[in-house]
Amino acid sequence: MVKMLVPYPENCTGCRFCEMACTIYHDGKINHADARLQVHRRGVKVDFPSVCTHCVSCGEDCCVLHCPVEAIKKKDGMVYVDQEECTACGECVEVCPFGVMRMEEKAFNCDLCGGSPTCVKFCPMKAIVYEEPKPEQYEKVKKLLAVEE
Ligand code: SF4
Ligand code: SF4
Repeated sequence: MVKMLVPYPENCTGCRFCEMACTIYHDGKINHADARLQVHRRGVKVDFPSVCTHCVSCGEDCCVLHCPVEAIKKKDGMVYVDQEECTACGECVEVCPFGVMRMEEKAFNCDLCGGSPTCVKFCPMKAIVYEEPKPEQYEKVKKLLAVEE
C-alpha cells in the first residue's frame, strides 16, 4: 500500500513545529519559508484556525502537466523534481493547489524525508499522518485554502 502525508486540519493548532522540523531536517536550521509544507494561520475565531498542506501528489498532476520541460516526474505515487532538467521558471510554484512547491535555485518539494516523515514525528496533535491517501482530507484542505483567498 502506498502511504502519503494526510493532513487533518481539524486537529492543527498552528504551532508550526512541522515547518521547523522540516527545515531542521533538510537544512540544519529553522526557516519557515523553505519548509516543504505550509501552515496557514487563519485566526482564532474560526473552526479551523490553521491548516497544514503538503505536497500530497494531489492526483491532479498540476505541476507535472504545467512544467514546460517535463522536469516534474512521478514515481510510486510521489511527485519529484528532476534537478538536472528544472530551469527554475516557477510555473509549478504558480499552479500547485496546495502552495507547497518551493523554489531556490531549482524547484523542490516534499520528499517524505526518505520515507520517515519528520513532520509527522514532531506534530503534537496528529494533524499530519503518514498513511493511505485520504482524498476527503485533501479536499477539506483545498476548500479551506479557497476560503482563505
Ligand atoms: S515529510 Fe519531510 S520533507 Fe515532507 S513536509 Fe514532512 S518534514 Fe518536510
Ligand atoms: S505541528 Fe501539527 S499542530 Fe503544529 S502546525 Fe504543524 S500540523 Fe499543526
